Amino acid sequence: MNELEKDVADTECTSSINSDPLTDSLQNRHASDACNFDNTDDNLTLPGVDSSSLGHVDFFDEHSDDSSHFTGHIQCFDESAGDVTINDFDDVGGCSEDFDDCYNWNSRLQNDSDNDCDENDTECDDDDVPEQLAKWAADDNICHASVNRLLRILKTRIPELPTDARKLLQTSRNVVTPVVAGGEYYYFGIEYWLQILLSGSSSQALQNLTDHLHLHINVDGIPLFNSVNVALWPILGIVAEWKGSPFPIAIFCSKSKPTSVSEYLTDFIAEMNELSVNGFTFQGKHYCITLSAVICDAPARAFLKCVKLHGGYRSCERCVQTGEWYNKKVILSSVSAPLRTDAGVSSQQDPKHHLSTSPLTQLQNFSPVTGVPLDYMHLVCLGVVRRQIHLWIAGPRECKLSQIQLCNLSEKFVQFRSYIPREFSRRLRALSEYKQWKATELRLFLLYTGPICLKEILTNEQYSNFLDLSVAVRLLLSPQLCMRYVDYAEQLLKYFVACFGHLYGKDQFVYNVHSLIHIADDVRHHGALDNVSSFPFESYLGKLKKLVRRPQNPCSQIVRRVMEGCCQPNIPSTDKDAEFKKPHTEGPLPVSYMNYLQYKQCYARDFFISVASGDNCFIVDGKVGIIKNILHYQVDNSCDAVLVFDEFTHRESFFTNPLDSQLLSIFIVDKLCSVHTVIPLSHGITKCILLPYKSKFVAVPQMHFS
Ligand SMILES: [Zn+2]
Repeated sequence: MNELEKDVADTECTSSINSDPLTDSLQNRHASDACNFDNTDDNLTLPGVDSSSLGHVDFFDEHSDDSSHFTGHIQCFDESAGDVTINDFDDVGGCSEDFDDCYNWNSRLQNDSDNDCDENDTECDDDDVPEQLAKWAADDNICHASVNRLLRILKTRIPELPTDARKLLQTSRNVVTPVVAGGEYYYFGIEYWLQILLSGSSSQALQNLTDHLHLHINVDGIPLFNSVNVALWPILGIVAEWKGSPFPIAIFCSKSKPTSVSEYLTDFIAEMNELSVNGFTFQGKHYCITLSAVICDAPARAFLKCVKLHGGYRSCERCVQTGEWYNKKVILSSVSAPLRTDAGVSSQQDPKHHLSTSPLTQLQNFSPVTGVPLDYMHLVCLGVVRRQIHLWIAGPRECKLSQIQLCNLSEKFVQFRSYIPREFSRRLRALSEYKQWKATELRLFLLYTGPICLKEILTNEQYSNFLDLSVAVRLLLSPQLCMRYVDYAEQLLKYFVACFGHLYGKDQFVYNVHSLIHIADDVRHHGALDNVSSFPFESYLGKLKKLVRRPQNPCSQIVRRVMEGCCQPNIPSTDKDAEFKKPHTEGPLPVSYMNYLQYKQCYARDFFISVASGDNCFIVDGKVGIIKNILHYQVDNSCDAVLVFDEFTHRESFFTNPLDSQLLSIFIVDKLCSVHTVIPLSHGITKCILLPYKSKFVAVPQMHFS
């Protein structure tokens, strides 16, 4: 057992994080590059780590199957030995052209499936055709006019088909959208969706489901049109236990945000309180439900909590400090002000923070402080990371990158493009387009591409500062590491914030940068940061927007489309079989697997595997390597799937500060072993992003898969 394994074992026996080697060594780091923190009067701890004694454990095994499924052995063979080859129905005349430009895994999966001519898939009973057509029209948001044209064509073959899309889709005629809080409003409800979700679950899934569900909600606004000033402000919900897609609890459309937060939340708060006290029953089983998180960006949080906006002097939602007016903005420079408490916020102890009484205080069993996390998608990705890039491109002269450096970065981006895994929905855009980057692109940059492409471009101090943020966020995102290293990550973020002001100026201590010091608290209450992020809601909000096809009555349009089956939530299947694509005969094929079929691609339960670059790098039992072939055998009820794997024989740390990158399973790798290893597909494997670095590669464990 090496030092780190001992540490893991010890930590499992004690809850004291203080005994952690990372935390113990915080004081040692950066002794040589101590900064003068004149801009803060707080005593800042400089985080550091002596990870040389930590050894290595593959912590990023979060997407692996239970290792007990492993058939017990990994086989090796030499390649040379076995190489064988409505009342006012809408959109009748219109057609939505606002197609999703999101090049994502699911759409590619769909396309691949479409391209594979499986005759069995095309066979169906005529009785199913109306139902299948309705599902297709709803899933793909096909306008009624197009559905009508298709129905007229098909009716000559299938007479029982209706001729009108509204009949096919059972479009509701009676959608009442009263004016509430100054806008068009419709309330679906919470239980409405829970009953739908549960009725769509298998009996096995229902048996496994806990009877205490935790609801997360999101409130955010999105403009519906470029030319007409109308915004959509839905209340979206998601059940934490299911990790499925969100559902719309309420729809609100208006020229501005709701005029009254109390009116806007009246139905929700009434139903939530009813559910939290009495629960609900489905098929004889009683369920309790608790609202555990309200996930929003800073303006929406201020709106719901009725507190000062993020530019205010007493705007921090987590600590009590008065901002300072500096260089035409309010800055929050203290990292150790007293923290706000639930009792203090409920009783409005700080009158300079509250504008009025929030309706959230009427919610039973809800914490107004920890129940409203600081959403890292907006705070970190769209906030701090974009701010950093802005400073490198258009900041003060002393921290700006030269044109040559920017060109070098662009070249690296172009070089990286073919190495980005399929699960990432957007390919790398040039750094100069950073203002248009989506949150997923900024996350990709922070966690994966940035640490590699910025090395030797930024100054040592700037790079070290960026890496501090990248490492701290990676620790807080990891379900395996976040709770053990939450104290360390918090110290690292405080150090990052202090250094950020030192490097880029005191005026950078704005709300977003300051709030970084509080996100570790969200991890303490909700687990890994992704548990309470806006990412799933942001994606769903875009889908809801696309349901609107004309400017009139947008709320009723969305409600009808949702009732027709568009944007329906789902509970992800846990027993999905792997799919194998692109058969070939090119090997390598070990002798003992001659009766297996060879494939170039496999859609496993959680990720995509390929023999091509971008999706072929994995960590298996702590070894980094490349998938060279995918083998599958299926006869009657007997089936097996294995991967042919080549290990990199050279492995070293990519960085050693703020900790040894090997602790995060981030390695410089080189030289593939010529002896293949065969691994069962059911064995625990961790997908990596493999990016070129000088003449070698850097492997970074992948943490995001959708
Ligand atoms: Zn604060």
